[in-house]
Amino acid sequence: MKYVDEYRDGELARGVAAAIAREASPARPYHFMEFCGGHTHAIARYGLEDLLPENVRMIHGPGCPVCVLPMARIDLGVACARDPRITLCAYGDLMRAPGSNGLSFLKAKADGADVRMVYSTLDAIRVAEKEPNREVVFFAIGFETTTPPTALAIRAARKKGLKNFSVICNHVLTPAAMTAILESGEKDGALVEGFVGPAHVSTVIGTRPYETFARDYKKPVVIAGFEPLDVAQAILMLVRQINDGRAEVENEYVRAVTREGNRRAQAEIAEIFELRDSFEWRGLGWLPNSALKLKDAYAEFDAERRFGLVAAPAADNPACECGAILRGVKKPRECKLFGTVCTPDAPMGSCMVSPEGACAAQWTYGRFREAAKAAAQRSVA
Ligand code: SF4
Repeated sequence: MKYVDEYRDGELARGVAAAIAREASPARPYHFMEFCGGHTHAIARYGLEDLLPENVRMIHGPGCPVCVLPMARIDLGVACARDPRITLCAYGDLMRAPGSNGLSFLKAKADGADVRMVYSTLDAIRVAEKEPNREVVFFAIGFETTTPPTALAIRAARKKGLKNFSVICNHVLTPAAMTAILESGEKDGALVEGFVGPAHVSTVIGTRPYETFARDYKKPVVIAGFEPLDVAQAILMLVRQINDGRAEVENEYVRAVTREGNRRAQAEIAEIFELRDSFEWRGLGWLPNSALKLKDAYAEFDAERRFGLVAAPAADNPACECGAILRGVKKPRECKLFGTVCTPDAPMGSCMVSPEGACAAQWTYGRFREAAKAAAQRSVA
């Protein structure tokens, strides 16, 4: 398949891996963070870490929309769904994200709340059109990639004169999270020397917003696509930057990303949304200017204002290490609940829910590779 097969070519991947092994200095370690859950998934699925030399280590980042949503926001959605006037529409990977007291959208639905899984924002608009007597609330999540579709839905609702459609906006911003990682990294123990930068997010915002990380923090960023060869090539480019003492923004994903990004999508976002003063992220805490809310001009579509919804503080399960994993200071295996109490069928934390979550990726792919590796070592011994 064009643009897929050539980026999954095993021979080429082994060639890039050989170049990484050749060029990475054995005298030093390299620590790179793949920001996106999509990259975490690709690394786990295609066994990329097995191709890397021991001293080139990948740190999982917080770029999984479901994972970074704090419990308080899930609770807010559950409370909204329990309002008998409301039909809550949400993307499928949110359904099992755990809120307080073991609640989730799925459990609220089982208890009788009107919760519907949708594949797009326009599905939610269609529900509102078909059922004018219901208040239809779309629970919007995601980074800059999923923000434009929410903006378009709000514009469509206004154009159609829909009075029963609104949005709980949880859209968050990638550069703010990267800044938080770098600001907290040293004291928390995460030593991030460079980033494999987001793919889809960067198609929207371009490469320009990352320039501050190269210029002000002296951290290289290489934007990469989600295929295994994209990621491997980006790691090689990061190794070369570190070896050369460079800190630049480079673009491996030239087939989709430009420096300026998608201006039309940026304009749609700017038309509808503005910065929140502060927003809570799972693992990263409250970050200033890190999320979006609807502008006053679109207040009628803001479910939080319309229904007086206020997020109450909620504490994570103390045994769950999602926070540390999202900050890049722990790996899924370091959580005592991994694979015992917490599995994708019964997730205790958000990182086990979405396929993009580090724990889900480790559960789905990593544990089999570990078992195969251990078996191979036993047979050699
Ligand atoms: S294994 Fe489960 S409980 Fe542990 S960090 Fe991951 S999601 Fe949280």
